[in-house]
Amino acid sequence: MLSKYEAVIGLEVHAQLLTKSKMFCRCNAQYADAPPNSVVCPVDLGLPGALPVINRTAVEYTVMTALALNCSIPEFSRFDRKNYFYPDLPKNYQISQYDLPLSHDGYMVVQVGDEARRIGIIRVHLEEDTAKLMHRTDARGKAYSLVDFNRAGTPLMEIVSKPDIRSPEEARLYLMKLRNILRWIGVSTGNMEEGSFRCDANVSIRPVGSKEFGTKVEVKNMNSFRAVYRALEYEMARQADVLDSGGRIAQETRGWVEDRGVTVSQRSKEYAHDYRYFPEPDLPPLVLTRDWVQSIREKLPELPDARRERFASQYGLSQYEATLLTNSKSIADFFEATVGLRASAKAVANWMVGELFRLLNAANIEIEQSKVSPEHLTEMLKLIDQGTISASMAKTVLEEVFASGKKPGDIVQERGLAQISGVEELQAIVHQVLATNPQAIADYKAGKANAFGFLVGQVMKATRGKANPGVVNQLLREKLDKQ
Ligand code: ADP
Ligand code: MG
Repeated sequence: MLSKYEAVIGLEVHAQLLTKSKMFCRCNAQYADAPPNSVVCPVDLGLPGALPVINRTAVEYTVMTALALNCSIPEFSRFDRKNYFYPDLPKNYQISQYDLPLSHDGYMVVQVGDEARRIGIIRVHLEEDTAKLMHRTDARGKAYSLVDFNRAGTPLMEIVSKPDIRSPEEARLYLMKLRNILRWIGVSTGNMEEGSFRCDANVSIRPVGSKEFGTKVEVKNMNSFRAVYRALEYEMARQADVLDSGGRIAQETRGWVEDRGVTVSQRSKEYAHDYRYFPEPDLPPLVLTRDWVQSIREKLPELPDARRERFASQYGLSQYEATLLTNSKSIADFFEATVGLRASAKAVANWMVGELFRLLNAANIEIEQSKVSPEHLTEMLKLIDQGTISASMAKTVLEEVFASGKKPGDIVQERGLAQISGVEELQAIVHQVLATNPQAIADYKAGKANAFGFLVGQVMKATRGKANPGVVNQLLREKLDKQ
């Protein structure tokens, strides 16, 4: 049914910026633990006579983001008033940007399977956030609403994509990559559950092969990547049903209802002219001198794509490893810090992508929250190289480092994990095993394949798994061939 149509999707992402103060006043922008309505002032409450002042860091963070997304930064930018009434909007207008945003016309390349898809960015602009409404019900079932103005006036960056996205999966990958970039350059926590990274999805469908766009619907209220994915799938199917039954798509805003897995109509679409945008008279136009833009560009770290390519070429990693190791800046930094301690890049990549990521996933934590350090990993790899522990013992050691933060060497000592590699010590054991298993020797001579394995197993058993298998193999062969 769906294959007749393809999706056309454009995403609008709002990200809260990690500035110390709010967008236009000195109030603390990091209000998470503050009691409701305690981080407010005349400016964010819209009291008479208050005047806004532009937060320089918020502008710089937005320009950093825009540069990371390959946007153009015009020299002149301006703030405008977007007028509407809502209980979470104390001034009855939001200071936003309209026709002269901080940046425009960029793109981000998203890897979708084998295809590198270039998704256009229409603009990255800056505005202020609204207050937060909480809808409650009292003991008698009567509904009421509370408002907390702490969030009002905090800096909010909006990133608007072109309608270049063609599937829910592509939308999900776009969002993950965008969030990685925002975190990487340190401008936002990108946390979706806490509402620091919010996505409105515009979606329409059209017959496969058609060049024209269909009527779009805007979906709001998704608070996870999975919710965006599900909402888009649902919306595609719903729109296909409407068209197939001869109906027309209404241009409207719909809300995603997570527990029912459906979108519901919220309001018919409003248009830009409904908001009566006009230049904010209390703020001067914003001039971004080329020197300033250049100094911001210089503050940008090496970005994920560039670092992935460098990891692949400089360290000989596969695209798969290089991609996983640049999934966050802390992961990439951990990798390079470990390699910098003279560990082999291939081995570090292997252990990070394999065991370390498995442990992080199981504990559901990020690498920077884990007790394992680059020093730990390097020490563990050295113990393997020296033959002190086998690869399988190393897994046990890493688990213990992960759980306790102890040093690998100490763990090996404490738990008596060290491998037995001493030829003399092993020779005695091999001798003993051969003496007690004449049948296996006969089988070996008769060419039975599993007899050798059986004997290795006996040595392992006698040493409680601590014998170095390489040395055991060699000693056994020598002895057997002499017999
Ligand atoms: P509006 O003025 O309605 O907000 P915009 O042109 O600003 O529309 O676009 C808002 C978002 O909707 C952008 O992310 C854009 O890519 C997306 N969009 C525009 N047209 C369509 C369409 N026909 N189908 C899906 N998404 C669309
Ligand atoms: Mg819009």
